[in-house]
Amino acid sequence: MKLTKAPDCLFCKIVAGELPAERLYEDEDILVFADISPQAPFHALLIPKEHVATLNDFGPEDVSVAGRLFLIAKSLAKEHDLPGYRVVVNTNPEGGQVVFHVHMHMLAGRQMKPGLG
Ligand code: 5GP
Ligand code: ZN
Repeated sequence: MKLTKAPDCLFCKIVAGELPAERLYEDEDILVFADISPQAPFHALLIPKEHVATLNDFGPEDVSVAGRLFLIAKSLAKEHDLPGYRVVVNTNPEGGQVVFHVHMHMLAGRQMKPGLG
């Protein structure tokens, strides 16, 4: 990862505690917080604390953190008694990304339709 903190990044500010968020999980490398505009009863955002703009900016050095996002999603599901969930990483404007600090959405607590339609 090249940049620790990007100056005008909303999620870097949340990591630094400069903006409030409902923190659900935190370790040295990863922060999970509740989405401000939840699309499901449970909607968390899982992010690396280091600033990485998009999924395309992950490199081989980030494999461990990127993989751990999935393991943390699994742990959160267990902790919050969520029998099923969906994870999504919107990438670039064409992929629906609005905040350019890579994040994994984790949605649960309502019945998801099969597929993504
Ligand atoms: P994207 O479209 O980039 O994949 O998703 C960005 C997400 O960040 C959206 O679901 C949006 O509701 C959430 N979000 C935007 N600003 C804030 C904020 O200030 N705090 C929190 N907790 N979530 C935010
Ligand atoms: Zn950032």
